[in-house]
Amino acid sequence: MLPKQKCLYNNKDYRIVLAIIVFLILILVLLNISDKGNTLSYIDKLESLIKKTISVPNFDFSNLKWVSNATTSKVWAARDSHTAFIFKDKMWILGGLDANNAIEKGEPNYDKAIYFNDVWNTTDGLNWTRAIEHANFPLIRSTSVFEVKGKLFMLGGYSPDTKVGYDIGLWTSNDGISWTKEKTKLPWVEREGQKVIKFKDKYFMIGGVNYLSKERFNDVWVSTDGYTWSLETNNAGWQPRWDMEISEFNGKLWLTGGMTSEVKTFGDEWVSNDGIKWSLVYKDAPYGHKQGHTSAVSNGSLMIISGLDDNNTSTGEVWETKDGIHWTKQITNWSAREDVSVLVFKNRIWILGGMNYDYHWTNDIYFSDYNYFDGSTINSQTFTENTGKIDLYPNTCPSATSTISSQDLSETFVSRDKRLPDGFVPSNLVDLNGLVKTDGDVCLDNLAAQNLIMMFNQAKKDNVLLSINFGYRSPEKQQEMFDFYAKQSSPEDASEGIAKPYYSEHQLGMAADLSAKSINYLGVSTKFAKTEEYKWLENNAYIFGFTLSYPEDKKDITGYKFEPWHYRYVGQQTAKILHDKNITFSEYINNQKVAD
Ligand SMILES: [Zn+2]
Repeated sequence: MLPKQKCLYNNKDYRIVLAIIVFLILILVLLNISDKGNTLSYIDKLESLIKKTISVPNFDFSNLKWVSNATTSKVWAARDSHTAFIFKDKMWILGGLDANNAIEKGEPNYDKAIYFNDVWNTTDGLNWTRAIEHANFPLIRSTSVFEVKGKLFMLGGYSPDTKVGYDIGLWTSNDGISWTKEKTKLPWVEREGQKVIKFKDKYFMIGGVNYLSKERFNDVWVSTDGYTWSLETNNAGWQPRWDMEISEFNGKLWLTGGMTSEVKTFGDEWVSNDGIKWSLVYKDAPYGHKQGHTSAVSNGSLMIISGLDDNNTSTGEVWETKDGIHWTKQITNWSAREDVSVLVFKNRIWILGGMNYDYHWTNDIYFSDYNYFDGSTINSQTFTENTGKIDLYPNTCPSATSTISSQDLSETFVSRDKRLPDGFVPSNLVDLNGLVKTDGDVCLDNLAAQNLIMMFNQAKKDNVLLSINFGYRSPEKQQEMFDFYAKQSSPEDASEGIAKPYYSEHQLGMAADLSAKSINYLGVSTKFAKTEEYKWLENNAYIFGFTLSYPEDKKDITGYKFEPWHYRYVGQQTAKILHDKNITFSEYINNQKVAD
């Protein structure tokens, strides 16, 4: 039996060895899991906190109000059938006509109307600059302008110049002011009342009318470069028409209204996934018959704006939908009009001129004034680091002297011996007042502000209530504070407690002095270091790209005493490195210098 016993012993040994191996593997697996767990949790945090949602109020149609430009006067002459577009961060209009002095027997005589080929632009929507009184394209109405890779294209429309008429051709411009005629003919029958729209990386030219030959169209042409166009269909399924609206919304094209050559309006609605095949949504849409209307897509809503029906109803209307099917109506404080231009610019919908129902051409401007950040209508909206942008109107923060991007500023180092250039004002300041808890007006760089909002909102979910008491500071304000500090202590002491003008992270627009509910939002207080809120920031601020600039016991490195309230934005990537290595931004910059 000896061999058998030996065999048993051997088996036992084998089992012990096996158990040890299994145990070791288990430990390795567990270690691996916990390692992965850490990695995942960081990415999860980023995903859930940064990439997903922050609570900024969503658009509430019932709160939509309209403000008139009646008090401002720097604007173009009354007109309709002009063309509006956004180009290089400005709103632009060009062309159109005014027939206020061409009414005969109650009807406009368009041959006697004033036509335009001027070009105007604006950065704020109210003060307009005439870029050119007579551009080199002809006097024109109802032309289409669209942008392809930084270049403007113009096609379609009608000119009262008898040598031109509908033969507008194709024009391009790099600056919106000087235009080049690229083609004298396009492949379709020349027309007006067409719709040109970008959809799924292609440009569509759809429908319209040649009023001289009384031909109206339901053809669809497509281009990828603006120059070459191909016919996709000669018959899109709906009745040929002009002055309809086609809007891109929820990844589809939506066609509303329009009219016949005899100026009878349509009231049907169509939808398309590809711009070529169309399906009927409504034979008789809830918003009724419309032509010369426009649309706006803003904050998850499609809105049909004004237009006229067969009865020339006088009240201005906006109809809103979130799905293209269910529509809600608003009667507006402006009168019904046709061939009005509408743009969405700086979080507002702008209504520019048009012809009133009573044959009165206008140059009035209305803009939407719903309180975008009204906390009563909070919904979530997606913001992603570096892409979202807070756009306030009006923005009360100082105007920039610098054109350095937020991204570059977030990587810019200032310290006791690293100075900003004279007259420096950062390029993207926004006022956080009304967006988060502030102490009055607090301006901060746009990118830093977005991430600060996300940080405050996440903190709130964790029952941590934060405030920002200081953001951007001008050199004058910095001097004032320095002098105040110096008077309280001594200039030597002051220089360790507060930066001199041009040496401050606050002047960069990247620094935020924070406080919290538990100390009654008291600013610049060392008490802050003892709070739960401070602890939360220690663990979470880096996720949002913020770092504590002047920690305890780092005076020799940073040059400043402990400031538990003073955080600055450095971006997520850098903030994570600083957090993981437990170093300050100054050490990080110094290390980089050594490495270089
Ligand atoms: Zn500070």
